[in-house]
Amino acid sequence: MNTDTFAIQNPVDEYRSEGYEKQRQPFPGLQREMEPVPDSGEATYTGRGRLQGRKALVTGGDSGIGRAVAIAYAREGADLAINYLPSEEADAQDLKNLLEGEGRNITLIPSNLADEHFCIKLVDRAFDAMKGLDILTLVAGRQVATKSIEEITTDQLEEVFAVNVYSLFWIIKQALPLFPEGASIITTSSIQAFDPSATLLDYAATKGAIKAFTQSLAKQLAPRGIRVNAVAPGPIWTPIQVSGGQLLEALPEFGQDTPLKRSGQPAELAGIYVFLASQESSYVTAQFFGVTGGKTLA
Ligand code: NAD
Ligand code: MG
Repeated sequence: MNTDTFAIQNPVDEYRSEGYEKQRQPFPGLQREMEPVPDSGEATYTGRGRLQGRKALVTGGDSGIGRAVAIAYAREGADLAINYLPSEEADAQDLKNLLEGEGRNITLIPSNLADEHFCIKLVDRAFDAMKGLDILTLVAGRQVATKSIEEITTDQLEEVFAVNVYSLFWIIKQALPLFPEGASIITTSSIQAFDPSATLLDYAATKGAIKAFTQSLAKQLAPRGIRVNAVAPGPIWTPIQVSGGQLLEALPEFGQDTPLKRSGQPAELAGIYVFLASQESSYVTAQFFGVTGGKTLA
């Protein structure tokens, strides 16, 4: 078990390497009910003032990777607004209590990103609450494992594309006029953009779309002084995986096929999201960063 983000240790042993028990929750799943509970850095992430004075909106911030990002951004000094679904209120409240107990500012804005109207309102509410917006970190995603294309309904297809792809257009369009020069946008793609699983056909297609979207937008926004980059996680232990994102029979082996022979934990992604948000990455735009346990992006 990781106890200190900065203490040297063998990455193979840093987190558990044996497989997981089969478990299933209704979508979208709660982090607090997973066994074991994922590590989003609650006990370990130490800030260094790298985002002092910054104002960040994080989607999917209640759990998993987005929660690790939210904790890290807040502890690096940023004001924070997070989005999630109303049914995830328990995870969001856990996070709010944790961060407010540390004297951080966090605004909770639950809403469904599949709806253009809500995406527009989300940006305006975050901007009003924080009196500004200069980091937009889009982590929310919908993943539904299916054995065959014949099982993918048009409703599923539309929801997965709306949450994973359309919401990026809607949110960024609304945020652009509000951004100062130097703002940073970070999207969340996946190893699935490069090495798609047979069971994630529609999801993998959206993650490929996010790659192209991110790199095109980065070129478009570079002259305006706004950077855009993507993170591509490999197998990470989060609620998405136990609420329909994996077939039940795939859970015990989840992550075991990586060179590090284990799944990752959300806390292991915080550093790259902080780096891309911060001015430290001033010459980094239109790039893709794998956090995959050794699987290669090609
Ligand atoms: P997670 O379940 O903790 O986070 C996903 C979040 O998406 C949820 O918390 C929920 O708030 C949000 N969401 C889903 N549908 C929504 C909707 N209609 N409206 C608003 N919010 C909605 O799981 P995670 O693994 O941390 O996922 C975060 C991101 O990482 C996703 O984009 C996912 O595709 C990506 N990713 C995850 C993995 C992995 O192995 N866990 C691998 C590659 C990419
Ligand atoms: Mg969640």
